[in-house]
Amino acid sequence: MNNKPKYGPIHHSKSPRYTGIRTFMKLPQVSNLDGVDIAIVGLPFDTGASYRSGSRFGPSGIREISMLLRPANAFHKINPFNYCSVIDYGDLPLIPGHINESHDIIKGSYSNLAKNKVIPIGLGGDHSVTLGELRGLSEVYGPLSLVHFDAHGDTWDNYWGKKYTHGTPFRRALEEQIIDPKTSIQIGIRGTVYDPTDVEEAKNLGFDVLTADEVRSLTEKNLSERIKNRVKNNPVFLTFDIDFFDPAYAPGTGTPEPGGFTSYEGINFIKNMPNLNYVGFDLVEVLPALDHAEITSQLGASIVYEFISLLALQESDF
Ligand code: MN
Ligand code: MN
Repeated sequence: MNNKPKYGPIHHSKSPRYTGIRTFMKLPQVSNLDGVDIAIVGLPFDTGASYRSGSRFGPSGIREISMLLRPANAFHKINPFNYCSVIDYGDLPLIPGHINESHDIIKGSYSNLAKNKVIPIGLGGDHSVTLGELRGLSEVYGPLSLVHFDAHGDTWDNYWGKKYTHGTPFRRALEEQIIDPKTSIQIGIRGTVYDPTDVEEAKNLGFDVLTADEVRSLTEKNLSERIKNRVKNNPVFLTFDIDFFDPAYAPGTGTPEPGGFTSYEGINFIKNMPNLNYVGFDLVEVLPALDHAEITSQLGASIVYEFISLLALQESDF
């Protein structure tokens, strides 16, 4: 990454935060990857949704409220934008109703980003988009370690006989050998399931699976160590489904599950996960039409900000 970042947010002293066109945190919208370390990538797609649709508006919802974020991270005591050149890459032109073509578009863009040493942070979109992201990044990095925060495992084989949905991306990723289950971990799984053996099945596929009950028995430091011991120094893709949170904190999503985590807990987990070899992130399943007072979008934007901070820590002398 650069010593003097080429791109960053417009300085807050220039105008009030609510002014301006809505890119993520008022970052410049740029498509030329020269001098770029991190790209925010909109993935407006919800054809993979099995219940409520509308997460195609997730990227715009997150961008809208992201104006409220301030640049410096008080927890880590850094301004991440002093260490990383960050852009808003805009939205990929995904095609509603056409999941395979949309996956191809994501794969092509992500492969190109990785070849240019740019770390993407995807804004979903339903969780099906992650399969395209993993395909693109694995072309450059090889099989990835998946760190997966979600109420759901998303390792089902099919929905109604269809293999590509937001409930199946990680089964496909295993089959395609673009993730390594032996160095991957799922965190926060809970709620009703189709079969009582669903969690066991994910373990049998090779994943480490921490149910919500198990996560509750860990401190954020314990969880961070558990993840680090699992993924070691392998290239990591961190995927975060907003339904990891309790619907009280994140109502604007397609398949909410009661009994989830607070916004404080989730943000704190991410803050305590530095020192992994991150090659990409996403934040998925925000559905603004079902949100209230933008709390789900704001929580999503806050998680994305913490992702940027984790990458900046890698570049600072933290
Ligand atoms: Mn999911
Ligand atoms: Mn989920």
